[in-house]
Amino acid sequence: MEKRIKKLSLNFRKLLKEASAQSASLGYELYLVGGVVRDLLLKKSVFDLDLVVEGDAIELVRHLKRDYNKHHTFGTATVYFDEHKIDFATARLESYSHPGALPRVKPAPLADDLKRRDFTINAMAISLNKGSYGQLIDLYSGLSDLKKGVVRFLHNNSFTDDPTRILRAIRFEQRFKFRIEKNTLNHMEAAISNGAILSVNPHRLRDELILLLKEPKPYRYIKRVNKLVGFSFLSPKSRKALIVDYELIRRVQTALSFYKKKFRKHRKIDDWVVYLAAIILSKSAGKIEEFIHCFGLRKSERLRILSIKKNISKIKLLNRQLKPASLYRIMEPLSFESLIFFYAYYPQKMIRKNIIYFMDKLATVTLKIRGKDLIKLGIAPSRLYSEVMGKTLNAKIDKSLKSKRDEISEARKIIRRLKTK
Ligand code: ATP
Repeated sequence: MEKRIKKLSLNFRKLLKEASAQSASLGYELYLVGGVVRDLLLKKSVFDLDLVVEGDAIELVRHLKRDYNKHHTFGTATVYFDEHKIDFATARLESYSHPGALPRVKPAPLADDLKRRDFTINAMAISLNKGSYGQLIDLYSGLSDLKKGVVRFLHNNSFTDDPTRILRAIRFEQRFKFRIEKNTLNHMEAAISNGAILSVNPHRLRDELILLLKEPKPYRYIKRVNKLVGFSFLSPKSRKALIVDYELIRRVQTALSFYKKKFRKHRKIDDWVVYLAAIILSKSAGKIEEFIHCFGLRKSERLRILSIKKNISKIKLLNRQLKPASLYRIMEPLSFESLIFFYAYYPQKMIRKNIIYFMDKLATVTLKIRGKDLIKLGIAPSRLYSEVMGKTLNAKIDKSLKSKRDEISEARKIIRRLKTK
């Protein structure tokens, strides 16, 4: 395994050596654990690290000499360097008072820390201790499962203890093109039939669902969740099952790939918001609001998802040749996530052409004139001020104004018109 650690960047290796030496001087034991070990074994590049300390993680990080950017919360300390993040956690044992509850936690040896993990492929560790540095610790045959391409839980109560593992199992199965081992799948299906998913705090489900939707090309993942679990957990109070339109999800995936290829320099977007909107689209706006509230989505996420639902009919207006200023007026208030969604939703050539024209040519248009230019024209900052700016921008788009002089002369005309109204 030392060979694998050597594949890490020089900075990572330096940090691990330093942490290892400090850990020894404090009488602790230190290990690399979880998904990082899995990814090193799969020869995938590793960006962030998870370390487990048999000892006090916060104390260990406090002793790291170099001037790292450090933070800590309950039993976990994080060190940031370059764009990497390294988590140091105190090895711990978890127990569940009832299915789906948050676990009770207490410090424990590494073996107990590995025992609380989700799947054998995520329950391996690499020693960072003198004498065994680089050695693989594999108590649950994770390496053999990794070679076989199997997602296997550690014990029969795994999914009832923490039903978010149902979504995690699907994520790893689909990401690595593995299969969920038979007994694991049987227990997973039993937990699903017993409604385990509804016993989890919706915020934890949300986090796992977002991770799943953030995977590259999540169409397959969504299909699998829908087959095994169904998405009705997003709207638990509703009596009607949530029907997912696979064709729409597939078109969303194609539209997102197209956007990234064609508009490389344009805005960064949250793909998962577009997928989530497509999944939940068949629900009423009221039910979607309920879901957003219950799952604790942020305000900006809420606005983008609701705007997709609410503007879907309005977008039919785009099925004809429109002046640039009209296009601008319809599309400017919409997020790019909404526009990509509508591009996927409406196959009509004209609608798609208009959306692309807006994203490519109009969304980036800005005025050359500033507030001080309007002040020179006798307009002090007021409501009129933003009206003049808005109308000048529309005129710039409509008449393809190029120079600042053109904009000033247009603003002058607009002011005159507004004053004589
Ligand atoms: P990814 O590559 O998507 O980041 P990961 O395996 O690193 O996957 P994380 O969510 O970062 O996943 O979790 C790190 C590790 O913590 C996992 O590999 C696993 O050992 C453990 N873990 C995370 N979530 C759970 C859970 N719900 N139940 C048990 N163990 C978990």
